[in-house]
Amino acid sequence: MTFYQLIEDTTVKLLKFAATQLPNDVSEALKRMQEEETSPPSKAALSTIVDNFGIAEDTSTPMCQDTGIHIYYVNIGENFPKVLGIADILRKASARATKEVPLRPNAVNPIVGGNSGDNTGNHIPFINYDFIPGADYLEITAFPKGGGSENMCALGMLKPGQGIAGIKKFVIDTILNAGGQPCPPVIVGVGIGGGADIALKIGKKQLMRPLGERHPDPEIAKLEEDLLKAINMTGFGSMGLGGEVSTALDVKIDYAHRHPASLPVGVAIQCWAARRATARIYQDGRVEFLTHKEE
Ligand code: SF4
Repeated sequence: MTFYQLIEDTTVKLLKFAATQLPNDVSEALKRMQEEETSPPSKAALSTIVDNFGIAEDTSTPMCQDTGIHIYYVNIGENFPKVLGIADILRKASARATKEVPLRPNAVNPIVGGNSGDNTGNHIPFINYDFIPGADYLEITAFPKGGGSENMCALGMLKPGQGIAGIKKFVIDTILNAGGQPCPPVIVGVGIGGGADIALKIGKKQLMRPLGERHPDPEIAKLEEDLLKAINMTGFGSMGLGGEVSTALDVKIDYAHRHPASLPVGVAIQCWAARRATARIYQDGRVEFLTHKEE
């Protein structure tokens, strides 16, 4: 097998894992939430969600009919030499997984209409690249993103004087506007500063962080906890059926330094079907799955 074939095969496996098995931190958090929720309708909805992802895992079938638009995060070790053509490889993997898993084709031409039929198209799959200093591996995360939760993401171009209080208000207003539409319990990623596109990108990248992990800066960590409490106090609950503790699983925040005249806030919303799967591929051909166990 060539190295490029290994990357393609690994990515097809990642897409299958993502579609059919929640990462452990998410499945465990949903089970805990199901035990803690006291509102009967939300508790019942959580029970259905837990049963559903259990069946999806047991039968290797997608946990939701919306199998998402294909997004990848590719972290390239600075000492990893074999990345030429990676965009083509990931594109092939998306098309192959669409047939083999199978996945619903979700890539639609926004100008002339028509579904490409294989989850690829102009700029899709969308690939985010980053470099890892000193590393000798390639790390790929498959992140198929559902449309219902994506529709409720928001960008606020706040005035700097609105400060932290303005940021909190914007996040809560976004959640109030979303209600049950993004299929709660949600995970909320918030990006602050940078610029319009940077804030949204930082916000979405927060959805890759494990649940329960807090930002290393204690002030940001406190903001994450405060917003999580406030979002759960909205009482939307699981699937918007009303509940004490099941509107949000977590809030993740990060920031970039901002222009003196701007305070952008990007809010990325992830539904309960928080599908992400990550693998590291080493130069010697070893593959290590970080979020899922290979049979
Ligand atoms: S928002 Fe999530 S859970 Fe709801 S339909 Fe889309 S993928 Fe499925």
